[in-house]
Amino acid sequence: MKTAVQLSKELRAREITATSLIESTYKNIESTDDKINAYMTLLKERALEQAAQVDKQFDKGNELSPLAGIPIAIKDNICIKDTRTTCSSKMLENYISPITSGAAQRCLDAGIIPVGKANMDEFAMGSSTENSAYFTSKNPWDLDYTPGGSSGGSAATVAAGQVPLALGSDTGGSVRQPASFCGVVGAKPSYGRVSRYGLVAFASSLDQIGPVTRTVEDTAHLLNVICGHDKRDATSLDLEVPDFTATLNQDIKGLKFAIPNELMSDIISDDIKEKVMDALEVIKAQGATFDFVSMDSLKASIATYYILAPAEASANLSRFDGVRYTNRADDISNLKDMYTKTRGEGFGAEVKRRIILGTYVLSSGYYDAFYLKAQKARTLIKNDFNKIFDKYDAILSPTTPTTSFKFGEKDKDPIKLYMCDIATIPANMAGLPGMNVPCGFSNNGMPIGFQIVTKALDEATMLRIGHRYQQVTDFHLKNPEMNYV
Ligand code: GLN
Repeated sequence: MKTAVQLSKELRAREITATSLIESTYKNIESTDDKINAYMTLLKERALEQAAQVDKQFDKGNELSPLAGIPIAIKDNICIKDTRTTCSSKMLENYISPITSGAAQRCLDAGIIPVGKANMDEFAMGSSTENSAYFTSKNPWDLDYTPGGSSGGSAATVAAGQVPLALGSDTGGSVRQPASFCGVVGAKPSYGRVSRYGLVAFASSLDQIGPVTRTVEDTAHLLNVICGHDKRDATSLDLEVPDFTATLNQDIKGLKFAIPNELMSDIISDDIKEKVMDALEVIKAQGATFDFVSMDSLKASIATYYILAPAEASANLSRFDGVRYTNRADDISNLKDMYTKTRGEGFGAEVKRRIILGTYVLSSGYYDAFYLKAQKARTLIKNDFNKIFDKYDAILSPTTPTTSFKFGEKDKDPIKLYMCDIATIPANMAGLPGMNVPCGFSNNGMPIGFQIVTKALDEATMLRIGHRYQQVTDFHLKNPEMNYV
């Protein structure tokens, strides 16, 4: 399984062509994806056309972006013009997007080739892809286990070696948690770094698009491509984006890390704590130091998130009404009937649960008690982070409280599933960059990862720490055996 950087070298040396790379990518997907189920839609024809264009440019000796010609999977809530965007929902079964999202456009402009749209939890709500209205994606390390979610397809396809790059979206952990479950790198950039234009909105104040790759180096390259201002997204930051690859190889001597006690307590399983402690020792040997600290507000993060995210979702999803975008229910007698039947048939149980919850916390009489209080809790979480960053360069912790679980283990109990994001949600609340880096395996052979969170806009330090760790460890080089194929 080659990384994007390795493939890029082969392309540049003309040892392979973009066309042959895309052809072999589809061969691999065709032989493995009946087991992994990573894709909602494949984009073979347009991918081959784009590959031919990239090859022409290489032949002319044109200067191309380092990732030109590399295949990528795009989560199915990120729009590409004239292709299907379902959000893994029945509501958008036949929806063809008239626009290309800011992030996908930057990939296309760099010559990166989208090979397919990756399966996900419906409208990005979930932690296992079991909420996809179509099928569940499987964890390549063991097909009985979930790949995590909601960007489960994106993480599974990278872990299975189908593609070296994928894009996911992360509202409360949906890039980092599946990356951790599948043993790959997954990063959420700072809020505002990557355009949300053309990302189907779940909770707009938390949503960010982020890369899934096998190495931190590949993540740095992909962030170089997708970060940057987009005037079509009012929250997009109009700031210069540093070259994230330029500082990757700087050492981490003298950096100071904080480890929140709240994320090393008994809510985290022992095997994860053990491997994260091992990772901390490796990092310490590179000249960094760490202290255990208390971040009391983290305890409130799940409760806060499950008020704010559903509140925003209830507003965002009101556009799916049978008039615009959507499949309209048959057999309707009046306007109200159209709304209720269309939304009743189109949304799955978890999406309905969030809409009901969100509508409730925003309704008059409950707004102050729930929504406003949650906004205040969000401020406390942000303040807690600021205090830590006065003294420390990064916060390290487990990415998830447990390793991947079997299908059906948590889908009857939403609260159990919600707990998966206890370590990832805080970074969304505070708009901070966060990244999962693989750091070992549990006794049953499932991957474990640790999370690096840095100050807003300091992706460079996050990447540098992760890259240094990967230079002295080999967890990211381990591949699932996939003897089921
Ligand atoms: N698992 C969380 C949820 O269900 C986070 C989802 C996400 O980041 N998109 O809401």
